[in-house]
Amino acid sequence: MSWGGGGMGFAPARGGGLPFGGIPSELQDGVDRLLATEPEHPETTVRFEQRPERPPARLSLWHLLVAYPRLMVVSLVLIVVLSLSAQAGPYLTELAIDHGMIAGHRSLLVVGLAAATYLASVVISALAQRSQVRTTGRLAAGVMKDLRIRVFGHLQRLSLDFFTDEKAGVLMSRMTSDIQNLQQLLQDGLSQFTQQGLTMIVITAILFLMNVKLALITVLLIVPVLTVASHWFRVSSERAYQRVRDGIANVLADLSESLQGVRVVTSHNRQRHNVIHHRNVVGSYRDANNQTAHISSLYGSITQLLGYLGQGALLAIGGDMVLHHSLSIGALIAFFLYLNRFLQPIQLLVQQYNTYQQGQASIIKLRGLLETRPSVEEAAAAQALGEIEGRIDFEDVVFGYDPELPVVSEVNLTIRPGETVAFVGPTGAGKSTLAKLITRFYDPVRGRVLIDGRDLKDVTFASLRRQLGVVPQEPFLFAGTVRENIAFARPDASDAEVEEAVRAVGLQDVIARLPAGLDTVVHERGQSLSSGERQLLALARAFLAHPRVLVLDEATSNLDLASETKIEGALDLLLQGRTAVLIAHRLSTAMKADRIVVVAEGRIVEVGSHDELVAAGGRYAAMYETWASQAEAESAGTRPD
Ligand code: ADP
Repeated sequence: MSWGGGGMGFAPARGGGLPFGGIPSELQDGVDRLLATEPEHPETTVRFEQRPERPPARLSLWHLLVAYPRLMVVSLVLIVVLSLSAQAGPYLTELAIDHGMIAGHRSLLVVGLAAATYLASVVISALAQRSQVRTTGRLAAGVMKDLRIRVFGHLQRLSLDFFTDEKAGVLMSRMTSDIQNLQQLLQDGLSQFTQQGLTMIVITAILFLMNVKLALITVLLIVPVLTVASHWFRVSSERAYQRVRDGIANVLADLSESLQGVRVVTSHNRQRHNVIHHRNVVGSYRDANNQTAHISSLYGSITQLLGYLGQGALLAIGGDMVLHHSLSIGALIAFFLYLNRFLQPIQLLVQQYNTYQQGQASIIKLRGLLETRPSVEEAAAAQALGEIEGRIDFEDVVFGYDPELPVVSEVNLTIRPGETVAFVGPTGAGKSTLAKLITRFYDPVRGRVLIDGRDLKDVTFASLRRQLGVVPQEPFLFAGTVRENIAFARPDASDAEVEEAVRAVGLQDVIARLPAGLDTVVHERGQSLSSGERQLLALARAFLAHPRVLVLDEATSNLDLASETKIEGALDLLLQGRTAVLIAHRLSTAMKADRIVVVAEGRIVEVGSHDELVAAGGRYAAMYETWASQAEAESAGTRPD
């Protein structure tokens, strides 16, 4: 264990606060003792393959459970012990009465033994219960951990289009409520099912062993009515619970929309209308809840009534049998006791049915997610790309997010190693789309994209992306320190390398102003930094990654002049000796590129240097003229008279 290496709490404060002065001597003993009990933390052995060697087994409860054979067997044994020991009571009562209490059979020994065994069975079932809850809890926790990692790992493999098509909210609910449903099923549901099912079998067997005739009468009296009632409960409660689930989803959706749109709501005076709408939504959720309560109470009272009626019938028929000496008093009492216990598991089972249903529905949804194939897959025969020079070719490329509707077509372009090419053109022309094809976030529908003469489809993702740097328009900062964010692509980079990257992009002044320098923690995706600072940080991140090819989406947000100058300086350095594709939103940036590619309506319409294109008098020349006259007007406007 070490104090350094990312332990934010212990990292020596740089720039702010006092430096870490070591552990006070009077605390050293305590710290040593604590460290002595600290378990070894072995290196994690997580491997991530873009293409798993063999497809994982289909998601099912069974497959998840068999990963823990020992815990599963132990839980099963404990459930059997529990079901048997818990049902010993009435049988022992019968023995005590018939062989120790009635005239002619009085025996203190038998009564004493029966009572002692009763007590022992209670202790055994209490102990078994405790271990069983603990074991199934561990089993459920383990299975949940595996499942979460499996789903998360799968999400890491999926292609970009999946995350564009799927709403983030839906994915979050797969990871939260669906997994929780399963957890509930595993933790209580499955063991309850097994235990109650087993209890019913045990009780039925005991009843038949004691007296076949009476057992048959009891079963025939109770089971048909109970079956009908249970069927009704199952069907109607399923419907009612569906209403409850829809209800809560509506409440949450309405709430989140109102909160997100609070500014619009206030400015359009819609508060009263919103309150009325929310009251309706909440009201229908309450109605749904009331309905489930109504159904449960009805079912509960029906089964209870059935129990009482059964006892009445048992008293009449069993009493008659006792009088005719075909049944002992002890057996009659035991029948009474078992009858109550027979109804309980049925009630519990039916009530648990909902948990089971929800768990199954969640499994199906998660299975669907796990069976989604990435649309851009690494070929089985993909080879690692060696060190590249950085030549990029588009050959007759056609691509559309929907394959039927091309967004870019007839794209032929060669970008030479070390060249800086700027894509310009109107919004929606397809510039970013072309950039996404270079990084292989998508595959062309027709044609090929090549890097150093090799089709992107023939190389491994890792070897390709290691040599590609992408700086998005709005850089994403992760929770952690500024240092961790800069070293994102190469977490093992040395301090000197991080500092070199910081200097290269001119971020050192910004870092010096932060309370703890490079160790300052960035909050909420870097909202505490200005957008220019975030851009510089993203450039430092790209610099440190040493990519051969850089794809850079220029920030559209208006930066202040100082940040813009800084970023331009950083770019000059970053682009040196690399192939670069700039999606330029400002002509001032595009002008500096070696060549400019004008994209319009998904086609490349002009290619050439700034001077060539201006001389050609085409689209670029027109864009440049508009821009230049605007810039002139602006500077005239700001010039003091
Ligand atoms: P540019 O970068 O030139 O502004 P884009 O390449 O982002 O343009 O977009 C080109 C076209 O593709 C636009 O019509 C846009 O609406 C569409 N488009 C972009 N991204 C997606 C997507 N993920 N799914 C569907 N259509 C998209």
